[in-house]
Amino acid sequence: MERTIFHRIIAHELPADIVYEDGDVVAFKDIRPKAPTHLLFVPKQYVASIAELTPETAHIPGMLILKAKEFATAHRIDGYKLVYHVGRGGGQEIYYLHLHFLSQEKMVEEGAKN
Ligand code: AMP
Repeated sequence: MERTIFHRIIAHELPADIVYEDGDVVAFKDIRPKAPTHLLFVPKQYVASIAELTPETAHIPGMLILKAKEFATAHRIDGYKLVYHVGRGGGQEIYYLHLHFLSQEKMVEEGAKN
């Protein structure tokens, strides 16, 4: 299996603006943001694409959505869009499953909370 750029980011081999990390997921800012807040939620367990899901990995997209929802609450983002690009025709460029989190609102950065 070819390692993607996201393999290298979650292994901390490549720099990224990581905004959240736990045992299951890494979230970082998209390098070419298409909204004031544009994050990517990437699971630590590798799956190439929604198109490659199996019954064993079907929980992962829901887990990413839950992490995104918790992140939004913690950073006071009320409205957002969650998107999976699937396959070339669906606009998927990187074959490591990831959830796009887009919001017209700016996230409240850590330390700015009161
Ligand atoms: P997709 O089209 O769903 O495969 O989305 C891939 C996304 O990854 C695009 O929105 C890119 O801007 C973003 N991207 C590519 N390389 C990096 C990187 N090194 N750090 C952060 N985001 C990246």
